Amino acid sequence: MTKVLVNGACGRMGQAVVKAVLSDDELELVGAVDLRGGMDAGELVGLPKAGVTVTTDLVKTFDDAKPEVMVDFTRPDVVLGNALTALKNGVSPVIGTTGLSSDDKEKIKKLAEETGTPAFIAPNFAIGAVLMMVMAREAAKYLPDVEIIELHHDKKLDAPSGTAIQTAEMIGEVRRKHKQGHPDEKEKLAGARGADIDGIRIHSVRLPGYVAHQEVIFGGLGQTLTIRHDSMDRESFMPGVVIACKKIRSLKGLTVGLEKLL
Ligand code: NAD
Repeated sequence: MTKVLVNGACGRMGQAVVKAVLSDDELELVGAVDLRGGMDAGELVGLPKAGVTVTTDLVKTFDDAKPEVMVDFTRPDVVLGNALTALKNGVSPVIGTTGLSSDDKEKIKKLAEETGTPAFIAPNFAIGAVLMMVMAREAAKYLPDVEIIELHHDKKLDAPSGTAIQTAEMIGEVRRKHKQGHPDEKEKLAGARGADIDGIRIHSVRLPGYVAHQEVIFGGLGQTLTIRHDSMDRESFMPGVVIACKKIRSLKGLTVGLEKLL
C-alpha cells in the first residue's frame, strides 16, 4: 500500500483525487490538507467517513501521517513551496498544479536529487491529452506550421495552460524554430496573434462550461490537420494520478510527463 496525502483536498481536482485514492486497493489516504480543514475527507467527497481529517498544516501532517507521496492540486503561486517542503520531509511530490516555470522545475530537480526523494510533474494527467501531445510531435515532423488553441473553464488562474506549453515544447524537439504568418504581419490589437513559444502561437480561451480542451492545428499546402482532446470530466485525470502515485517511489530525481510512466 502506498501512503498518500492530498494537498488542495477541498478543490475541484483535490476532491476527485481523494475519491480516487479512497477507491484504490493499493493506495491508502493518510492525510488531506487545504486552507480550510476540520471535516472528514471521505464525507467531504460524498463517501463514507474515511477517518482522515482535513488539516491546514502541511508540515505537521507530514509528521503525524507519515505519507510517502503528496499529490498537489493547489495554486500556481504556492506549488513550488509545497513541492520543496515535501522533498525536505522525504515525501515524493506528484504535482498536477500548473504554472511552474523552468527555473521552478530546476529547483525541484536539484532538491529531488540531493535528498534522494523522487518527484513527478504532469501538466496533464489525462491519457488522451498525452496521446494528443505525442501525436502532435509526430505530425510536426511533416507539417511544421502549427498553432495551438487551448480552452478552459474561467476559474483557471494561469494562461497559457501547462498542457499547451508542454505541447509546444514537445513540437519544438522535432521542428526548427521559425516565425509563422506573413513576414510583415502587424498586430492591430496586442495579443491578437497569441503567445509565442519558438514561433508556435498559443491562444487561450476562458469560458464557463469548459473543463480542459485543446486543439493543435497543423497547416500545409491545401490542407489542415487538427488534433483535438477534450476532458469533459475531472475523472479523466484520475487513472494518470493513480499510476503516478504507485510508480513514483521507483523513479529517480525529477520526472516530467505522464508519457514517461506508460
Ligand atoms: P481549485 O481552486 O478548485 O482548488 C485548489 C485548492 O487548493 C482549493 O481548495 C484551495 O483552497 C487549495 N489551496 C490553495 N492554496 C493552498 C495551500 N497553500 N495549501 C493547501 N491548499 C491550498 O483548483 P483546481 O481546478 O482543482 O485546479 C488546481 C490546479 O490543478 C490548477 O493549477 C490547475 O491548472 C491544475 N490542473 C491540473 C491538471 C493536470 O492534469 N495536471 C488537471 C486539471 C487542473
